[in-house]
Amino acid sequence: MEKKQLLYEGKAKKVWSTEDENLCIVDYKDDATAFNGLKKGTIAGKGAINNRVSNFMMQVLEQEGVPTHFVEELSERETLVKKVSIVPLEVIIRNISAGSFAKNYGVEEGIVFEEPTIEFSYKNDDLGDPLINAYHARALKLATKEEIETIKAMAFKTNEVMKAFFKKLNIDLVDFKLEFGKTADGSLVLADEISPDTCRFWDSTTHEKLDKDRFRRDMGNVEGAYQEMMKRILGE
Ligand code: ADP
Ligand code: UDP
Repeated sequence: MEKKQLLYEGKAKKVWSTEDENLCIVDYKDDATAFNGLKKGTIAGKGAINNRVSNFMMQVLEQEGVPTHFVEELSERETLVKKVSIVPLEVIIRNISAGSFAKNYGVEEGIVFEEPTIEFSYKNDDLGDPLINAYHARALKLATKEEIETIKAMAFKTNEVMKAFFKKLNIDLVDFKLEFGKTADGSLVLADEISPDTCRFWDSTTHEKLDKDRFRRDMGNVEGAYQEMMKRILGE
């Protein structure tokens, strides 16, 4: 399958059309941004790592019964996916306090929750992806009540599968962001990516951060952390 037309260029990926109107090709870049685009940089090798890591996780999830957009890895940085209409919600699951949760609610990072939390942000760069609840999402016609229920169930299932998967790699899955989309027949699938850009990963023993927080917080060894996660996930 060949790339035809550039449909969209985002902060981390390009999306191309193909000769099949129901499929598109995502092309992962090394560009990194944080704080709603205010901080910009590149992480050498990130595109290739995120492509492989995301595809691996999507296949793990498919095997556990979570439908995803994944079709076929085409090259180091390119993957064929089902073309979806993205539900403009960032769905965030948390198992441990960190990032904006710690900041907004005035608690330290590292509190292990008894139950995971879920929250939604309205995916809108101009507005800075504001936090919204399910009623707001329905009022804004971003999704129906049934779609929101399906998204919640798929997000919690994804968390259970990923938490268990990463525990075996001696990694605590702190929090992550998911996006969902609707295929041509209207069914919801997990889309976008699952990578150190979109998840917080802490080594269970050393509590070392192995994710994009190293870039956000100028902690150094960003490339090394992404490589370490790929090594553990792919077992190579
Ligand atoms: P952003 O838009 O936040 O800058 P990216 O650089 O990752 O993010 O761009 C990828 C874009 O492609 C995102 O807007 C995402 O919602 C969208 N996308 C992800 N998966 C699919 C898919 N299967 N079909 C269509 N669009 C997708
Ligand atoms: N996240 C993401 N994209 C976003 C916002 C958040 O992938 O636009 C991920 C982030 O990597 C983390 C989780 O969602 O794993 C929770 O992020 P948080 O709300 O704490 O925001 P941040 O601290 O990144 O501003």
